Amino acid sequence: KGNDGKYTVTLIEGDGIGPEISQSVKDIFAAAKAPIKWEPVDVTPILKDGRTAIPDDAIQSVRKNLVALKGPLATPIGKGHVSLNLTLRRTFNLFANVRPCKSIAGYKTPYDNVDIVLIRENTEGEYSGIEHVVVDGVVQSIKLITREASERVLKFAFQYAESINRNKVRAVHKATIMKMSDGLFLNTARNISKDYPKIEFDAELLDNTCLKIVTDPAPYNDKVLVMPNLYGDILSDMCAGLIGGLGLTPSGNIGDECSIFEAVHGSAPDIAGKGLANPTALLLSSIMMLQHMGLFEHADRIQKAIFEVLAEGKTITGDLGGKAKTNEYAEAVMKKLH
Ligand code: NAD
Repeated sequence: KGNDGKYTVTLIEGDGIGPEISQSVKDIFAAAKAPIKWEPVDVTPILKDGRTAIPDDAIQSVRKNLVALKGPLATPIGKGHVSLNLTLRRTFNLFANVRPCKSIAGYKTPYDNVDIVLIRENTEGEYSGIEHVVVDGVVQSIKLITREASERVLKFAFQYAESINRNKVRAVHKATIMKMSDGLFLNTARNISKDYPKIEFDAELLDNTCLKIVTDPAPYNDKVLVMPNLYGDILSDMCAGLIGGLGLTPSGNIGDECSIFEAVHGSAPDIAGKGLANPTALLLSSIMMLQHMGLFEHADRIQKAIFEVLAEGKTITGDLGGKAKTNEYAEAVMKKLH
């Protein structure tokens, strides 16, 4: 916190629609007088010893400020490019990815009562990036599960459940098939659960979870779901579909020191630069950021304004069936700030 009473936050605007949706966040935060000073940084990758790396200035900014808001980053397709998102998660050891998925009043979907909180292990599992050719036509990809990484994300899940007043944690797994890797995750979960006697713990097979959530999401509204990397990636997009799509879903990447908040969606190259993007997902990510920083009043006020505009349904973006441009939607939100 600076002498002016404002907290400095690193801002990575990102690629594609990133700058447009970041502008909406900046405008709305300014109108709401949120005590945030943005420190924009460039994360265009540099090559360091032949590997993709994030510029030092950007790393230092996040390390200093501890909190960052991030727009989507496009991953170039082709050999030798490592995903910058993965690089960021690894650089700052952002071990847990929190993805809430809550129905938005006014936006009609098959279920209007979704309120799922999903926590995804963010550093290993199927996304460890350890792949090699055994012989031509045969490749091997290694799913890495460690007790250490499992423990920290599971502990976080129990603590997070307590912090949002949910008294049930459910581990989602496939330990029936992946007996050793998911088995380790599941056993670690059982052990950690003993440290949280007030929280009810159980486990469910991933395929069963998918079937049950799309059949009736309501029984999941009192739980926190926690799972290995790949399952969390897929299941959270499925849940996003239940509430109206990628324009609405926020996330937080949490580490021991730093945290980076970002929308679940990508850079949307098909609509970039046209003023058509829905900034709600990045806005809701910035609300998660304010809550993480303990700035609950500002978070509530901005969130209420967003939900009012969405509920009225008059000034909404194309992905939600409206005609408003990104900035027109942002202006409507600003008018609702009481
Ligand atoms: P995408 O999420 O960018 O787009 C999927 C579809 O959803 C597109 O039709 C797009 O127009 C729409 N969409 C997404 N966000 C929207 C919004 N805010 N408002 C309205 N419509 C929206 O997925 P993609 O096309 O597969 O990926 C594009 C690029 O983004 C790729 O380079 C990918 O690697 C990258 N990506 C980055 C992140 C991240 O930074 N966390 C996440 C996913 C994908």
